[in-house]
Amino acid sequence: MPEPPSPHTDVRHHLGFERERLHAVFEAVGAAVLVIDHDGIVNAANGEAVRLFGLSADLLGAAITALLRVGATEESARPLMNREELESVLLQRRWNIDGVRLRPMNQEPFPADLVIAPFAANQSPAHEVSGAVVVITDNSTRDATLAQLQWQATHDALTGLPNRTVLVDRLQHALVLAERSGSWPSVLFLDLDHFKAVNDQLGHRTGDRLLVEAARRISDATRAVDTVARVGGDEFVVLCEALERPDIAELVAARILRSLEAPFDFDEELVHISASVGIARTDVTVHSAEQAIRNADLAMYRAKETGRSCMQVFDDTMSMKTRRRIDLERALREAIDNDDLNVAYQPIFALADDSLVAFEALARWHHVDFGDVEPIEFIAIAEEIGLITAIAERVLDVACRDAASWSITAGRPIRLHVNVSSRQLGASTFANYLARVLKHHHVDPTMITLELTESMLLDNPERQNDRFDALRDLGVRIAVDDFGTVYPSLAYLRRYPIDVVKLDRQFVSGIWQTAQGRHILQAILDLATGLNYAVIAEGVEHEDELDALRELGCEFAQGHFLGGPMPPAEALLLTASVLHAFPVEPGYPSRLGPVKANRTSTSQVP
Ligand code: C2E
Ligand code: MG
Ligand code: MG
Repeated sequence: MPEPPSPHTDVRHHLGFERERLHAVFEAVGAAVLVIDHDGIVNAANGEAVRLFGLSADLLGAAITALLRVGATEESARPLMNREELESVLLQRRWNIDGVRLRPMNQEPFPADLVIAPFAANQSPAHEVSGAVVVITDNSTRDATLAQLQWQATHDALTGLPNRTVLVDRLQHALVLAERSGSWPSVLFLDLDHFKAVNDQLGHRTGDRLLVEAARRISDATRAVDTVARVGGDEFVVLCEALERPDIAELVAARILRSLEAPFDFDEELVHISASVGIARTDVTVHSAEQAIRNADLAMYRAKETGRSCMQVFDDTMSMKTRRRIDLERALREAIDNDDLNVAYQPIFALADDSLVAFEALARWHHVDFGDVEPIEFIAIAEEIGLITAIAERVLDVACRDAASWSITAGRPIRLHVNVSSRQLGASTFANYLARVLKHHHVDPTMITLELTESMLLDNPERQNDRFDALRDLGVRIAVDDFGTVYPSLAYLRRYPIDVVKLDRQFVSGIWQTAQGRHILQAILDLATGLNYAVIAEGVEHEDELDALRELGCEFAQGHFLGGPMPPAEALLLTASVLHAFPVEPGYPSRLGPVKANRTSTSQVP
């Protein structure tokens, strides 16, 4: 028969349970825990303490003062506290120290937070300490993560170079120092030439390798005191500090350019690249790091204009205009990437019955800082930097989408005029591309009129003919835009399959005021009619102009007086209301009749 439990067994059982529980807590805390007696001798240690101090048997019985060692090197290691200091620590309720670097004997040093919490046993007289719990938190992982985050926030991941944040910080600091020392820093802005071509033709992997290697060469060509930062895709900035002579910056730039001359060797693929460098010296008039960097950037653009692979030193004559141009260029690239461009629609009317016959699609760009940027300005930039096709493709896509949806609402196709740049027309794929977009949006090609300028017809007529044939086959119509601005003679147009001539505003402006102007306009209109061109007068701003045009027999007009470029919602409303007023098919499409054949083969060149 089992013995009945005695009161003693109960207490033992309870104590055993308490010990188990304490032990579990002791081992579960993420920190090293040591229990010491009032002499500082360790009488208990958990697993983490053994891991950090690397002693297991030796730990018990060791003096805590001998364990807690600090010091930059093993040779200079010394105790964090001596016996007296420990005694005074033990007199406090709780003592702690953060961020101390402990160096246990024969172990790796580690950053730690340390807490010493003295305790008194129940039966000991008041205030008499019987020992303490020492808790040591190893912060190496936390510190490493923090360091890594810090590094990531201040460096470029690809090349390992400092980023713009660090650069601006150091430059700002250098400018402050220069105020006192008088030795002003210089900033070099460096941009690789034609890097995009490397990326496009050899792939991004090679592009990345090139950047890494270029970063290395640039760093090698600079002095140890200089900062090389990567501030954009293929853009680097070198901060030259403490220059004994300002022209040293130019020497550094020359060394960098030379270092990039040797071809880059990637798996038997030899890649040649050069760079353009802008240099901005600083002095008392340069107030911020950003300003110095912008000046160098501006000078870099000048270097690119002068011919690549060279350097330019910033001077104040590099005007505001250039600056705006650079800023616009950057913003435009972003706008295209982010699809920030919009399309406005300007109505074109038939003068016989005031009916709406078509809309001209016009690109619009609103930027947070620049406001509404004039198409004249951004289209010219886009043409120069090769972005016009991207813009035109966006306009075409949006306009076809809009026109298709209006056609459904209106119950008949909506005619659309789209401006085409010479670069687009020059691409052999243009007609195919156009066909694809039209098909995608279910737009009838005969509802599309492409507006080309005179100068586009004048250069390289042979090649243009192939392009025109392809467009003819597709069924779209062709208009000559801004007619008369370059070469005001209709005769030369005969060799192109033109359907529509858009008379430039200069022929329309103030037309009612001079008899001479009316004669010229009359002559143009007569000839155009003879050649079977439809004529649209552009830029009608006054009622008098409209009356004069009607009188002279001009059939179509467009202008602020009749309706300026408007957002799509307004254009849709106009379509609906005009349809209501003029339910008959307007004259413009039928007036043109079937698509004309290419006249080049039958007519004489004037
Ligand atoms: P454009 O093709 O000759 O377009 C007509 C321009 O005249 C438009 O200027 C229009 O707003 C403006 N206009 C209309 N009525 C009047 C008026 O009564 N008085 C005056 N003074 N102006 C009037 P916008 O929108 O500034 O466009 C300027 C030029 O930019 C266009 O001239 C065209 O050459 C180009 N453009 C616009 N959008 C595109 C596009 O998507 N692609 C291409 N390649 N070029 C475009
Ligand atoms: Mg136009
Ligand atoms: Mg025009």
